[in-house]
Amino acid sequence: ISRIGVLTSGGDAPGMNAAVRAVVRTGIYHGLDVFGIMRGYQGLMEDDIYQMEGRSVANIIQRGGTILKTARCKEFYTPEGRKKAYEILKQRGIEGLVVIGGDGSFRGAVAFSQEYDIPVIGIAGTIDKDIYGTDFTIGFDTAVNTAVEAIDKIRDTADAHDRLFIVEVMGRDAGYIALHSGIATGAENILVPERKTDLKDIINSLQEKERRKKLVNIIVVAEGDEYGGAQNVANLLKEHLPKAEARVCILGHIQRGGAPSCLDRLIASRMGYHAVECLIEGKFNVFVGILNNKMNYVPLENVGKKKGTISEEWMKIVKILAS
Ligand code: ATP
Repeated sequence: ISRIGVLTSGGDAPGMNAAVRAVVRTGIYHGLDVFGIMRGYQGLMEDDIYQMEGRSVANIIQRGGTILKTARCKEFYTPEGRKKAYEILKQRGIEGLVVIGGDGSFRGAVAFSQEYDIPVIGIAGTIDKDIYGTDFTIGFDTAVNTAVEAIDKIRDTADAHDRLFIVEVMGRDAGYIALHSGIATGAENILVPERKTDLKDIINSLQEKERRKKLVNIIVVAEGDEYGGAQNVANLLKEHLPKAEARVCILGHIQRGGAPSCLDRLIASRMGYHAVECLIEGKFNVFVGILNNKMNYVPLENVGKKKGTISEEWMKIVKILAS
Protein backbone atom coordinates (compact mmCIF):
# COMPACT_ATOMS: atom_id res chain seq x y z
CA ILE A 1 0.00 0.00 0.00
CA SER A 2 1.44 3.36 -0.89
CA ARG A 3 -1.45 5.85 -1.08
CA ILE A 4 -4.17 6.36 1.50
CA GLY A 5 -7.04 8.81 1.93
CA VAL A 6 -8.61 10.22 5.07
CA LEU A 7 -12.01 11.85 5.51
CA THR A 8 -14.30 13.06 8.29
CA SER A 9 -18.01 12.32 7.91
CA GLY A 10 -21.38 12.80 9.65
CA GLY A 11 -21.65 15.02 12.71
CA ASP A 12 -18.44 16.82 13.61
CA ALA A 13 -16.81 16.14 16.96
CA PRO A 14 -14.02 17.96 18.80
CA GLY A 15 -10.83 15.93 18.40
CA MET A 16 -11.40 14.98 14.76
CA ASN A 17 -8.51 17.27 13.83
CA ALA A 18 -6.21 15.46 16.23
CA ALA A 19 -7.17 12.18 14.53
CA VAL A 20 -6.55 13.61 11.04
CA ARG A 21 -3.16 14.85 12.22
CA ALA A 22 -2.26 11.42 13.59
CA VAL A 23 -3.30 9.66 10.36
CA VAL A 24 -1.35 12.08 8.16
CA ARG A 25 1.82 12.04 10.24
CA THR A 26 1.81 8.26 10.80
CA GLY A 27 1.24 7.73 7.08
CA ILE A 28 4.10 10.02 6.14
CA TYR A 29 6.34 8.36 8.76
CA HIS A 30 5.76 5.08 6.91
CA GLY A 31 6.51 6.68 3.54
CA LEU A 32 2.89 6.72 2.33
CA ASP A 33 1.27 9.44 0.26
CA VAL A 34 -1.66 10.72 2.30
CA PHE A 35 -4.65 12.45 0.69
CA GLY A 36 -7.16 14.57 2.57
CA ILE A 37 -10.70 14.16 1.24
CA MET A 38 -12.91 17.20 1.87
CA ARG A 39 -16.55 17.04 3.14
CA GLY A 40 -16.74 13.30 3.76
CA TYR A 41 -18.27 11.02 1.14
CA GLN A 42 -19.63 14.09 -0.71
CA GLY A 43 -16.15 15.45 -1.41
CA LEU A 44 -14.95 11.98 -2.30
CA MET A 45 -17.54 11.71 -5.07
CA GLU A 46 -16.68 15.21 -6.28
CA ASP A 47 -12.93 14.49 -6.28
CA ASP A 48 -12.36 17.27 -3.73
CA ILE A 49 -9.07 15.69 -2.69
CA TYR A 50 -5.65 17.13 -1.81
CA GLN A 51 -2.31 15.60 -0.97
CA MET A 52 -1.31 16.39 2.59
CA GLU A 53 2.11 17.08 4.05
CA GLY A 54 3.25 16.85 7.64
CA ARG A 55 2.88 20.62 7.78
CA SER A 56 -0.73 20.57 6.48
CA VAL A 57 -1.74 19.36 9.93
CA ALA A 58 0.44 21.71 11.99
CA ASN A 59 -1.30 23.66 14.71
CA ILE A 60 -4.62 21.79 14.53
CA ILE A 61 -4.45 19.36 17.45
CA GLN A 62 -6.09 21.95 19.71
CA ARG A 63 -8.78 23.06 17.26
CA GLY A 64 -12.42 21.95 17.32
CA GLY A 65 -14.34 21.15 14.13
CA THR A 66 -12.48 19.47 11.29
CA ILE A 67 -10.14 21.05 8.75
CA LEU A 68 -11.35 18.45 6.23
CA LYS A 69 -14.94 19.65 6.81
CA THR A 70 -17.74 17.15 7.10
CA ALA A 71 -21.05 16.50 5.40
CA ARG A 72 -23.96 14.14 5.15
CA CYS A 73 -24.25 12.71 1.66
CA LYS A 74 -27.46 11.23 0.24
CA GLU A 75 -25.83 9.89 -2.90
CA PHE A 76 -23.52 7.57 -0.97
CA TYR A 77 -26.57 5.57 0.15
CA THR A 78 -26.97 4.44 -3.49
CA PRO A 79 -24.82 1.87 -5.34
CA GLU A 80 -24.31 4.43 -8.14
CA GLY A 81 -22.95 6.96 -5.64
CA ARG A 82 -20.54 4.44 -4.17
CA LYS A 83 -19.43 3.40 -7.68
CA LYS A 84 -18.56 7.02 -8.39
CA ALA A 85 -16.53 7.14 -5.18
CA TYR A 86 -14.69 3.95 -6.13
CA GLU A 87 -13.82 5.29 -9.58
CA ILE A 88 -12.35 8.47 -8.08
CA LEU A 89 -10.23 6.45 -5.65
CA LYS A 90 -9.03 4.22 -8.50
CA GLN A 91 -8.14 7.22 -10.66
CA ARG A 92 -6.20 8.72 -7.79
CA GLY A 93 -4.47 5.42 -6.99
CA ILE A 94 -5.73 5.54 -3.40
CA GLU A 95 -5.54 2.01 -1.98
CA GLY A 96 -6.88 2.45 1.53
CA LEU A 97 -9.30 4.77 3.30
CA VAL A 98 -9.58 6.03 6.88
CA VAL A 99 -13.10 7.16 7.76
CA ILE A 100 -13.50 9.26 10.91
CA GLY A 101 -17.17 9.46 11.88
CA GLY A 102 -20.13 7.96 13.68
CA ASP A 103 -22.13 4.78 13.14
CA GLY A 104 -23.81 6.13 9.99
CA SER A 105 -20.43 6.79 8.41
CA PHE A 106 -19.40 3.24 9.34
CA ARG A 107 -22.55 1.82 7.75
CA GLY A 108 -21.56 3.66 4.57
CA ALA A 109 -18.08 2.17 4.84
CA VAL A 110 -19.55 -1.33 5.23
CA ALA A 111 -21.69 -0.92 2.11
CA PHE A 112 -18.64 0.33 0.20
CA SER A 113 -16.26 -2.38 1.43
CA GLN A 114 -18.75 -5.13 0.52
CA GLU A 115 -18.81 -3.89 -3.07
CA TYR A 116 -15.21 -2.84 -3.69
CA ASP A 117 -11.74 -4.04 -2.81
CA ILE A 118 -10.49 -0.85 -1.19
CA PRO A 119 -9.89 -1.48 2.51
CA VAL A 120 -11.51 0.90 4.96
CA ILE A 121 -10.53 1.57 8.57
CA GLY A 122 -12.95 3.45 10.81
CA ILE A 123 -12.17 5.78 13.69
CA ALA A 124 -15.05 6.46 16.07
CA GLY A 125 -15.58 10.20 16.07
CA THR A 126 -18.90 11.18 17.63
CA ILE A 127 -19.93 13.12 20.71
CA ASP A 128 -22.77 10.63 21.30
CA LYS A 129 -20.53 7.70 22.38
CA ASP A 130 -23.11 5.40 20.78
CA ILE A 131 -20.75 2.90 19.15
CA TYR A 132 -20.49 -0.76 20.00
CA GLY A 133 -17.07 -2.16 20.99
CA THR A 134 -15.27 0.92 22.33
CA ASP A 135 -15.14 2.67 25.70
CA PHE A 136 -14.31 5.96 24.02
CA THR A 137 -15.36 7.93 20.99
CA ILE A 138 -13.61 11.11 19.94
CA GLY A 139 -15.51 14.21 21.07
CA PHE A 140 -17.57 12.74 23.89
CA ASP A 141 -15.30 13.92 26.69
CA THR A 142 -15.16 17.48 25.34
CA ALA A 143 -18.93 17.62 24.79
CA VAL A 144 -19.62 16.37 28.31
CA ASN A 145 -17.24 18.91 29.81
CA THR A 146 -18.92 21.68 27.82
CA ALA A 147 -22.30 20.52 29.12
CA VAL A 148 -20.98 20.41 32.70
CA GLU A 149 -19.64 23.95 32.45
CA ALA A 150 -22.95 25.20 31.07
CA ILE A 151 -25.09 23.40 33.66
CA ASP A 152 -22.91 24.75 36.50
CA LYS A 153 -23.71 28.24 35.22
CA ILE A 154 -27.39 27.42 34.96
CA ARG A 155 -27.34 26.22 38.58
CA ASP A 156 -26.05 29.63 39.70
CA THR A 157 -29.01 31.43 38.20
CA ALA A 158 -31.44 28.68 39.23
CA ASP A 159 -30.20 29.08 42.78
CA ALA A 160 -30.55 32.85 42.78
CA HIS A 161 -34.20 32.61 41.72
CA ASP A 162 -35.22 29.32 43.32
CA ARG A 163 -36.08 27.87 39.97
CA LEU A 164 -36.53 24.51 38.35
CA PHE A 165 -34.41 24.16 35.21
CA ILE A 166 -34.91 21.52 32.59
CA VAL A 167 -31.75 21.28 30.51
CA GLU A 168 -31.55 19.41 27.23
CA VAL A 169 -28.27 17.94 26.09
CA MET A 170 -27.32 16.21 22.84
CA GLY A 171 -26.67 12.51 22.23
CA ARG A 172 -29.31 11.46 19.69
CA ASP A 173 -30.55 8.03 20.82
CA ALA A 174 -27.86 7.71 23.49
CA GLY A 175 -28.08 9.06 27.02
CA TYR A 176 -24.40 9.17 27.94
CA ILE A 177 -23.96 12.94 27.70
CA ALA A 178 -27.07 13.37 29.88
CA LEU A 179 -25.96 10.74 32.40
CA HIS A 180 -22.36 11.92 32.76
CA SER A 181 -23.09 15.65 32.79
CA GLY A 182 -26.10 15.13 35.06
CA ILE A 183 -24.16 13.20 37.68
CA ALA A 184 -21.23 15.61 37.51
CA THR A 185 -23.47 18.63 38.12
CA GLY A 186 -25.59 17.03 40.83
CA ALA A 187 -28.76 17.00 38.73
CA GLU A 188 -31.88 15.99 40.64
CA ASN A 189 -33.17 13.86 37.77
CA ILE A 190 -31.77 12.57 34.50
CA LEU A 191 -33.91 11.36 31.61
CA VAL A 192 -32.20 9.06 29.12
CA PRO A 193 -33.58 7.18 26.11
CA GLU A 194 -32.25 3.85 27.39
CA ARG A 195 -34.49 3.75 30.44
CA LYS A 196 -38.16 4.50 31.02
CA THR A 197 -38.91 7.34 33.41
CA ASP A 198 -42.29 7.69 35.05
CA LEU A 199 -42.99 11.43 35.21
CA LYS A 200 -45.17 10.74 38.25
CA ASP A 201 -42.02 9.84 40.20
CA ILE A 202 -40.42 13.15 39.24
CA ILE A 203 -43.57 15.07 40.12
CA ASN A 204 -43.80 13.33 43.50
CA SER A 205 -40.18 14.01 44.30
CA LEU A 206 -40.47 17.68 43.24
CA GLN A 207 -43.60 18.08 45.41
CA GLU A 208 -41.83 16.48 48.32
CA LYS A 209 -38.84 18.80 47.80
CA GLU A 210 -41.21 21.76 47.65
CA ARG A 211 -42.48 20.77 51.11
CA ARG A 212 -38.89 20.76 52.31
CA LYS A 213 -38.37 24.15 50.66
CA LYS A 214 -35.82 22.75 48.23
CA LEU A 215 -36.86 24.74 45.21
CA VAL A 216 -33.71 24.67 43.09
CA ASN A 217 -33.78 21.61 40.90
CA ILE A 218 -32.02 20.70 37.70
CA ILE A 219 -33.39 18.00 35.43
CA VAL A 220 -31.10 16.92 32.60
CA VAL A 221 -32.92 15.50 29.58
CA ALA A 222 -31.27 13.70 26.66
CA GLU A 223 -32.54 15.01 23.32
CA GLY A 224 -33.72 11.51 22.38
CA ASP A 225 -35.67 10.82 25.58
CA GLU A 226 -39.09 9.18 25.43
CA TYR A 227 -41.00 12.47 25.94
CA GLY A 228 -39.36 14.25 23.01
CA GLY A 229 -36.95 16.63 24.72
CA ALA A 230 -36.83 19.24 27.46
CA GLN A 231 -39.68 21.45 26.26
CA ASN A 232 -42.16 18.58 26.28
CA VAL A 233 -40.97 17.43 29.70
CA ALA A 234 -41.41 20.99 30.99
CA ASN A 235 -44.94 21.23 29.58
CA LEU A 236 -45.95 17.95 31.18
CA LEU A 237 -44.44 18.90 34.54
CA LYS A 238 -46.01 22.35 34.56
CA GLU A 239 -49.48 20.81 34.27
CA HIS A 240 -48.94 19.17 37.64
CA LEU A 241 -46.75 21.79 39.28
CA PRO A 242 -48.42 25.09 38.42
CA LYS A 243 -46.43 26.94 41.09
CA ALA A 244 -43.03 25.83 39.85
CA GLU A 245 -40.94 28.50 38.15
CA ALA A 246 -39.73 26.16 35.42
CA ARG A 247 -37.30 27.24 32.72
CA VAL A 248 -36.04 25.29 29.76
CA CYS A 249 -32.52 25.52 28.38
CA ILE A 250 -31.47 23.61 25.27
CA LEU A 251 -27.68 23.58 25.15
CA GLY A 252 -27.54 22.73 21.44
CA HIS A 253 -24.52 23.05 19.21
CA ILE A 254 -22.13 24.55 21.74
CA GLN A 255 -21.63 20.89 22.74
CA ARG A 256 -20.03 20.16 19.39
CA GLY A 257 -17.51 22.99 19.39
CA GLY A 258 -14.49 24.18 21.29
CA ALA A 259 -10.97 22.98 21.88
CA PRO A 260 -10.87 19.21 22.40
CA SER A 261 -10.11 18.02 25.92
CA CYS A 262 -6.81 16.34 26.74
CA LEU A 263 -8.52 12.94 26.75
CA ASP A 264 -10.05 13.47 23.31
CA ARG A 265 -6.67 14.55 21.90
CA LEU A 266 -5.04 11.46 23.38
CA ILE A 267 -7.56 8.93 22.10
CA ALA A 268 -7.67 10.64 18.69
CA SER A 269 -3.88 10.45 18.41
CA ARG A 270 -3.86 6.82 19.47
CA MET A 271 -6.70 5.78 17.17
CA GLY A 272 -5.27 7.71 14.21
CA TYR A 273 -1.88 6.06 14.63
CA HIS A 274 -3.37 2.56 14.88
CA ALA A 275 -5.70 3.11 11.91
CA VAL A 276 -2.69 3.57 9.64
CA GLU A 277 -0.87 0.65 11.24
CA CYS A 278 -3.94 -1.49 10.44
CA LEU A 279 -3.85 -0.52 6.76
CA ILE A 280 -0.15 -1.34 6.58
CA GLU A 281 -0.58 -4.69 8.39
CA GLY A 282 -3.53 -5.64 6.20
CA LYS A 283 -6.19 -5.55 8.95
CA PHE A 284 -9.16 -4.51 6.83
CA ASN A 285 -12.68 -3.26 7.32
CA VAL A 286 -12.51 -2.77 11.04
CA PHE A 287 -12.81 0.28 13.19
CA VAL A 288 -10.28 1.15 15.83
CA GLY A 289 -11.77 1.16 19.30
CA ILE A 290 -10.31 1.16 22.79
CA LEU A 291 -11.66 -1.36 25.29
CA ASN A 292 -10.21 -1.72 28.81
CA ASN A 293 -7.30 0.47 27.69
CA LYS A 294 -6.34 -1.91 24.87
CA MET A 295 -6.84 -1.38 21.17
CA ASN A 296 -9.91 -3.25 19.99
CA TYR A 297 -10.36 -3.86 16.27
CA VAL A 298 -14.06 -4.28 15.65
CA PRO A 299 -15.41 -5.51 12.30
CA LEU A 300 -17.28 -2.62 10.72
CA GLU A 301 -20.35 -4.85 10.21
CA ASN A 302 -20.72 -5.05 14.00
CA VAL A 303 -21.59 -1.40 14.12
CA GLY A 304 -25.30 -2.22 14.31
CA LYS A 305 -24.82 -4.37 17.40
CA LYS A 306 -26.27 -3.49 20.75
CA LYS A 307 -24.46 -0.59 22.33
CA GLY A 308 -23.72 -0.23 26.02
CA THR A 309 -26.65 0.27 28.32
CA ILE A 310 -27.08 2.52 31.29
CA SER A 311 -26.96 0.40 34.41
CA GLU A 312 -29.33 0.33 37.32
CA GLU A 313 -26.33 1.24 39.50
CA TRP A 314 -25.88 4.63 37.81
CA MET A 315 -29.57 5.47 38.09
CA LYS A 316 -29.53 4.53 41.79
CA ILE A 317 -26.53 6.79 42.37
CA VAL A 318 -28.36 9.69 40.68
CA LYS A 319 -31.38 9.15 42.93
CA ILE A 320 -29.51 8.80 46.21
CA LEU A 321 -27.09 11.66 45.66
CA ALA A 322 -29.79 14.08 44.57
CA SER A 323 -32.09 13.58 47.56
P1 ATP B 1 -23.09 11.29 14.01
O1 ATP B 1 -23.43 10.05 14.81
O2 ATP B 1 -22.12 12.13 14.73
O3 ATP B 1 -24.27 12.05 13.49
P2 ATP B 1 -22.76 9.67 11.64
O4 ATP B 1 -21.54 9.20 10.97
O5 ATP B 1 -23.62 8.63 12.32
O6 ATP B 1 -22.32 10.79 12.66
P3 ATP B 1 -24.72 9.99 9.50
O7 ATP B 1 -25.31 11.22 8.93
O8 ATP B 1 -25.64 8.96 10.03
O9 ATP B 1 -23.66 10.48 10.58
O10 ATP B 1 -23.83 9.27 8.34
C1 ATP B 1 -22.87 10.02 7.60
C2 ATP B 1 -22.93 9.65 6.14
O11 ATP B 1 -22.58 8.27 5.96
C3 ATP B 1 -24.29 9.77 5.47
O12 ATP B 1 -24.60 11.10 5.11
C4 ATP B 1 -24.12 8.87 4.26
O13 ATP B 1 -23.39 9.52 3.25
C5 ATP B 1 -23.27 7.74 4.83
N1 ATP B 1 -24.13 6.61 5.24
C6 ATP B 1 -24.80 6.44 6.39
N2 ATP B 1 -25.49 5.28 6.42
C7 ATP B 1 -25.27 4.69 5.22
C8 ATP B 1 -25.70 3.48 4.60
N3 ATP B 1 -26.52 2.64 5.22
N4 ATP B 1 -25.27 3.21 3.34
C9 ATP B 1 -24.45 4.06 2.71
N5 ATP B 1 -24.00 5.21 3.23
C10 ATP B 1 -24.40 5.54 4.45
